Amino acid sequence: MIEEYADRVWRGESDDSIVDVRAWSRAPLTTAFYSHGHIDHVFGLGPFEESGPRATVHAHEAVGDRFRRYVLTNGYNAVINQRQFQADGLRWPTEYRHPDVTYRDALTVRRAGLTFELTHAKGETDDATIGYVPEHRLLLPGDLFIWVTPNCGNPQKVQRYPREWVHALHRMAAMDAEIMLPSHGAPVFGMARGVFARAAAESRKRS
Ligand SMILES: [Zn+2]
Repeated sequence: MIEEYADRVWRGESDDSIVDVRAWSRAPLTTAFYSHGHIDHVFGLGPFEESGPRATVHAHEAVGDRFRRYVLTNGYNAVINQRQFQADGLRWPTEYRHPDVTYRDALTVRRAGLTFELTHAKGETDDATIGYVPEHRLLLPGDLFIWVTPNCGNPQKVQRYPREWVHALHRMAAMDAEIMLPSHGAPVFGMARGVFARAAAESRKRS
């Protein structure tokens, strides 16, 4: 839900998803994890921090480099994304909420009786984090699972990491998750492991 919210904020559309989240819980947002630095994944935080305390944001160390690159290439990013997403009004952001805690290979964070195991992976981006919460056998793949595999980039943008992406799919399949919450699309209950095994097999066939 937060990702959909961020998507619309990015496109300059109004959205009331924060209202839906607040109907479910009034608890302040204290901890956040960026799955990667794409702008539809980092701007959902803003409205929560505007109406509450500053959260502690965790992310892979390359996310900060991405944000600095986005500032340097602001005009170019605005033009190519207007074209790709057919959004004339799209403006590329010039200010970013940088993470507070970064890691290189792996990081374990404990909050509210839960364990968040973060490991770095490359796939859609070079700065991706796979999140796993063992207490719920809950997998948070970010955009390493996007219902199609793989989007390896397009000629106007940096190429992506299809080979490493396959490895990441195998790693996620081996985690034996029961629940998967992808950044886009519906949650998967039950057969998360099978979904990954199929995605990995499919992408190997195509590559
Ligand atoms: Zn995304």
